[in-house]
Amino acid sequence: MTSVRLRLLVLALLPLIVLMPLLLVAGMARWTADYDRVLIANVESDLRIAEQYLARLLAETGTDLENLAGSAALAAAAADGVDSRDRFLESRRRALGMDFLYFLPDQAESPWPVIAKARAGQASAAIDVLSPEALDARAPGLSDRARIDLIPTQAAIPTDRAAEDRGMIVHGASPVSVPGMQGVLVAGILLNRNLDFIDTINALVYLNAVTGGDRQGTATLFLDDVRVSTNVRLFEDVRALGTRVSAAVRGAVLDEGHTWLDRAFVVNRWYISGYLPILDSFGDRVGMLYVGFLEAPFAAAKRSAYFWMLGAFGFVLVLSIPLFLKLAKGIFAPLERMTQTMSRFENGDLSARIGETGSRDEIGTVASHLDALLREVQDRDRILNERVEARTAELRDANAKIEATFRQLVMSEKLASIGEITAGVAHEINNPVAVIQGNVDVIRDVLGPASRPVETELDLIDRQISRIGAIVGKLLQFARPGEYSADTETVALRDVVTDCLILVDHVLSRKAITVDTTFASAPHVRIDPGEIQQVMINLFINAAQAMDEGGVLSIAVEPAQQNEVDGTRLIVCDTGPGISPERIDAVFDPFYTTKIGEGTGLGLSISQTLVQRAGGLISVENGSAGGAVFTVWLPAAEALDAAAQ
Ligand code: ADP
Repeated sequence: MTSVRLRLLVLALLPLIVLMPLLLVAGMARWTADYDRVLIANVESDLRIAEQYLARLLAETGTDLENLAGSAALAAAAADGVDSRDRFLESRRRALGMDFLYFLPDQAESPWPVIAKARAGQASAAIDVLSPEALDARAPGLSDRARIDLIPTQAAIPTDRAAEDRGMIVHGASPVSVPGMQGVLVAGILLNRNLDFIDTINALVYLNAVTGGDRQGTATLFLDDVRVSTNVRLFEDVRALGTRVSAAVRGAVLDEGHTWLDRAFVVNRWYISGYLPILDSFGDRVGMLYVGFLEAPFAAAKRSAYFWMLGAFGFVLVLSIPLFLKLAKGIFAPLERMTQTMSRFENGDLSARIGETGSRDEIGTVASHLDALLREVQDRDRILNERVEARTAELRDANAKIEATFRQLVMSEKLASIGEITAGVAHEINNPVAVIQGNVDVIRDVLGPASRPVETELDLIDRQISRIGAIVGKLLQFARPGEYSADTETVALRDVVTDCLILVDHVLSRKAITVDTTFASAPHVRIDPGEIQQVMINLFINAAQAMDEGGVLSIAVEPAQQNEVDGTRLIVCDTGPGISPERIDAVFDPFYTTKIGEGTGLGLSISQTLVQRAGGLISVENGSAGGAVFTVWLPAAEALDAAAQ
């Protein structure tokens, strides 16, 4: 049961424990990717704003120069001479916020493409990188302003350089169409340390409420891989000028010319960054424009979203386990009841039933089917048991009958052979005894009065001879009872009892035995009076012999039915020791006697033969108060007459 419960639990919780986390991880991965994409899209649009600002700056520089080159003021100043022109240009340089502004005559050589373009008649501006000498040649001391000491930076490409002394400038040129001035106006704005420029970009991108939001933005201009203008801070108020970009960004943007849109390690923290390569007027990649915002707040937001989702999952899991267990109990409880009922049934309690499970589903149906089956098994078992019991009783009866028949058969066999022998022996004894008796009579006759001295001995011989005769007679009576049967008469047992008591009186009184008789009015029976007398005397003598120390001999005569046949019963009880239970069945066996040397063991056997021949029954049992109880039942004479008709 435990395993089924466990398996069900696993089955139910498996989707929750395995699939839910998978879904959760997949969902979170997808969400993270989308989130990152949004961040990258943000930084990309930031980068476009910065790029556009740079383009506008270039365009404005070109336009300013073009306006100046074609202005009447320049023409007027030029008309006043070179000094006046230069003064005018100096004042305009300051007004326009440029770092240098000069007139370059056509005959002067120049390698710069912007100047070549101006000479071709088109005003323009571009980014260019100037050496320190070139800077100083255009404006003394400009190279000092441009110079930036390099700061060792983590993750940057190693370098031996100690400083960046070149200058990145917005380089503009415009043809001049003023009389007396054949050439171009050339101007430059130094971008190294140009914090106005970078702060304007930063303000445009990040201080704008719509696009900036609450992001902590940064912007940087790189000359090569060196930060020459930035608002990225090293410390609280120290800008990270002179630090360098990481090797990875440098490789992708400067070396390969890609736009970088990804997270990047900027100076000392991770930023969501966008890097754009900057080309000079020759078309070479000379620097980068960077914008980015700090990743940490977004990473923190992401983390808290993860934790929230994990928490929600855990909450659902914790909530669903007890809920499931409660629901599962509705399934397990009837199953457990079914198992218990089955084991009770197997242990022999056939009345065990599952009963009402309270569930109307498949389990409830199975339970009621099972109950029906159990009921049927119990019914069948009961029927089977009844049949087995009936058959067993029949067999027992049959066995008893067989045993009784067998005993009777054995007894008949035994009696038949004993009878044969006894009859032979009795005849053989009778002849010598008759000879002895005859000779004793001859002795008496011959001796006459002379026999007196031995008269006692002769009388003794006579008595012993008559005893031998009686014994032989009994033996013959046992062996061939038919030969001795006399004519039957209708007698009252009560009278026979009274006669017999007179005959055995001397035996009873000698042993101090009192006699207690109870005579009820009972029907007469039909039997040879001598035979029934013999039976009674035998019973009375046996009782007297059992009561050596005296006692009470109770004799009762009463009417009694046997197998619905009317009759009379004689009951003879004594107060002797009774008969040992294991020998009680043997007392009617011929020659069974406990009176070794005194008894013949034939008394009860002959009595049984005589009673049975008269259609009666004789039986014995031990009385509840001790002593033997012999019962003789004989059919009523009238009943025999009625049966005979
Ligand atoms: P016998 O008296 O010659 O022994 P019986 O056939 O009359 O032969 O009796 C057989 C045996 O039955 C007796 O030896 C005795 O052991 C037992 N018996 C008969 N009557 C009684 C009695 N009233 N009380 C105890 N034992 C008895």
